[in-house]
Order: sequence, then C-alpha cells, then structure tokens
Amino acid sequence: MKIVILGGGISGFGSAVLAKKHGHEVFLSDSGAIGAEYKSRLDEAGIPYEEGGHTEERVLQADEAIKSPGIPDKAPIVKALAAKGTPVISEIEFAGRYTNAKTICITGSNGKTTTTTLTYNILKDAGFNVGLGGNIGESFALQVATTERDWYVLELSSFQLDGMREFRADIAVLLNITPDHLDRYNHSLELYAASKMGIVRNQRADDTFIYCADDPVTVQMLEKQPFPMRCLPFSVKHIPTQGARLENGIIRAKVGTRTLKLDPQGMKIRGIHNIYNSMAASLAALAAGAKPQSIAKTIESFEGVEHRLQSLGEIGGIEWINDSKATNVDAVWYALESMTRPVVWIAGGTDKGNDYEPLYPFTPKIRALVCMGVNNEKLVKAFRGRIDEVQSTDSLDDAMTRARKLAQPGDAVLLSPACASFDLFKNYEERGKLFAEWIQKNKK
Ligand code: ADP
Repeated sequence: MKIVILGGGISGFGSAVLAKKHGHEVFLSDSGAIGAEYKSRLDEAGIPYEEGGHTEERVLQADEAIKSPGIPDKAPIVKALAAKGTPVISEIEFAGRYTNAKTICITGSNGKTTTTTLTYNILKDAGFNVGLGGNIGESFALQVATTERDWYVLELSSFQLDGMREFRADIAVLLNITPDHLDRYNHSLELYAASKMGIVRNQRADDTFIYCADDPVTVQMLEKQPFPMRCLPFSVKHIPTQGARLENGIIRAKVGTRTLKLDPQGMKIRGIHNIYNSMAASLAALAAGAKPQSIAKTIESFEGVEHRLQSLGEIGGIEWINDSKATNVDAVWYALESMTRPVVWIAGGTDKGNDYEPLYPFTPKIRALVCMGVNNEKLVKAFRGRIDEVQSTDSLDDAMTRARKLAQPGDAVLLSPACASFDLFKNYEERGKLFAEWIQKNKK
C-alpha cells in the first residue's frame, strides 16, 4: 500500500517506522516545521518526508492516510483526502493491526495521564510484560514496530478515538465527560461525548468497559443504547455489586470474585478525583488479572504525575502546588475541592470559553486570586466581589512574587490556571517548570 502520514511528530514518526517495516511505501508530510530530532530519525530510518506544506498531488496518491491527532478534520488536506474517498485513520488504528497484545485504553476529559500512568505502574509492578503509549511516552506504533508486549496501556484523546475504525480495546476506561476542546466539535457537547464513547467501538461480550456512574453525561450516553460487554461502574455515590465504590471512606472494588480494599488516607495522591482515578485503575488491573494486594501496594506508593497537583514543598510555612496541567474549569474544581489550607490561587492564560460559576462554592477557601495572562479581564470580572483580593499581572514572576506576599504561613499557593498556556509559555510543561524553578530560586 501507499501510505501517507500527516504530521511529523511523535505519532507520525512511529507510524512511518511501522509502515515501512511492513513493506508499505511511506511518505510523511507536515504543514509546519518538523523538529530536528524527528528529521534525523526519519533520515536514519530512510523515510522520505516534506515539511512546511503538503504537496497535494503526492499526498492524494496514497491508498490510506494516517493523521496525527493534532490535525483537525477541517484542515484542507484532510478534506481533500476525504473528498477522494481515501481512508484517514489514527496511529492507534494502524498500530493495532500489527499486534496481538491486549490493550487497556483510557479516555476522559480529565485524569487520562494520571490513570494511564497508574494502571501501567500497577501492571508493571505485578510482573506483566506491558508497554505504555498513546499520548504518553513513546508512540504505540513505534513500540509495536520495535518490541513484543503482552499488554499495552494506552492514553487516548478524543482525536485519536475519532480516527479508529476496527481497533478494539480489551478493557476500555471512560473517566468522565466534561466540556473541553469543544471548538473541534462544532461547540457541541453531544458530538464531543459521542466521540469519547468511541472508546467502546467494536467491543464484544467478553470485553470490559469501566466508567464513572457519577458522571451525568456518561450515564446519559449509556442510556441511549444497550452495550454487550461486561460493564464495571465506579462511584462514590452508588453501590454497584460489580465495580468500585466508596464505603465509609474506604475504596472497595470487585471484579468477578476478586475484591480489593484501599484506604485513601494511606495514598499519596489526594483529592476526590484521585479516588476516582484509583478506582478506575484498580478495576482495569483486576480485569487484566493483577492480584489485589499488589494493586493496592502500587496505588499507595504512587506519587502522581508532574504538573498535576504536585506539591513542591514549603517555604516559610507556605506550601507551593504545581497544577499547571489544569487547563480547564473542571480540573480546577477538583484542585480547589482537595485543598485543606487557605489558598492563594494563580490562574489565567488563554481562555477557552470558560464558565467559572462552578468554582464559586470554593471562594471561602480562597484568600486571594492572582490572575496571569492575556484574558485576565474575564477572571477578574468573575471573581471580584467574591474573593477579597483579586490582582492582575502579566507575567509568572510577578504573579508568584505577589502570591508570596499575599499568602500567610499555613496557606497554599496553587497554580491551577483553568486556561491554556500558549499566551506566555510554549506549553503547560514550561509553565510548570518555570513555576518550580522560581520556588527553587526563592527557597535559598
Ligand atoms: P489528562 O491527561 O486527561 O489531561 P491528567 O491526569 O493530566 O489528565 O490531569 C489533568 C488535570 O486534571 C490536572 O489538573 C489533574 O489534577 C486534574 N484531574 C486528574 N484526574 C481528574 C479527574 N478524574 N477528574 C477531574 N480532574 C482530574
């Protein structure tokens, strides 16, 4: 087959290597610049590519296109391929054809990276021959091309799910569905929710679907159609017989006859969202056959993932918390919910059409809000009069200096922006890294 790969990043490179290995004629095309690292890896692998634009006649010669999840369907080249009837698939769909490994696929609006990493750690500690992929680490396609695994734990965004046709998850996990990325879905929560439900596409009766029974949008989607596979709900409100629940503050999970008991007080990750994430990971691991004791041990020692409610220690009795990955209101809701100290909250950036009202119940916990970014006006308007002190800044350094002045011993300074980072930073990682560096500098 003639295969064209759109996008020269991590997933495109992996797909190119895998396609070449299986004898396909490969051409990679990127509308922007390809990073130096990937260019040299493509050269090394002998894969032809172009950058800075697509040569349409060459791209349209392909029998099949593999599209990077970052490229929207409305991009002219994708539209041209669709008009010609060329199948446009995702890296996951493509790589899935070349492995017999079982997969645990995890999606949701928030919590994917945390739950995927935790599930992977559990299986690894339990002695499984397991790989980690999707949006994290090395691409699924490259791992399929270069290693043999029995299991993969994959983090899947809705964009990856959209490009899946025949791929089937042995164990599918849907954490939650809350508004995010609606710009890619015609501003329709329904279209976005339908995309997330793609996680169960092609599942059969002997497959497993793990979902949050407390998430209203998920429950509504489930009511629309009967599902043939084994369903394992998790909830802090209901008591499912099979699945996970919270009873007198203790997590209890049951799959078949195997049960697991876990006390959140003994866990390092905090907040109700991490109770949900731990429930989902426990169920996935139980369904995969891991032993309850081993699962509990890994969860208890799990310290979370960088930039997600990550405590960076105290200076003068003030705790500094990096939650740079909180790029939407729902993630901030869980961050504020989990705070046990008075909070000086640093927020702002590029607004994604946020509605801040769900955060109003937490304002009694918030001593001060320091806004930082291009869309401060909206934040200031939403919280002035609700929080005693609301200040506006246009740099991280200024925001942190002010936060330090406003905080009192016993408080926490929380960076949980609710916004994208592209106004002042390259990405959320850079924002979190600079936050951590400032603390290091000021610790002395
Ligand atoms: P994702 O990969 O889906 O973006 P992450 O695990 O990277 O998820 O977490 C992103 C943000 O969402 C962080 O601020 C984190 O604290 C918060 N978060 C994590 N799990 C959940 C959850 N289950 N529900 C809501 N927010 C969550």
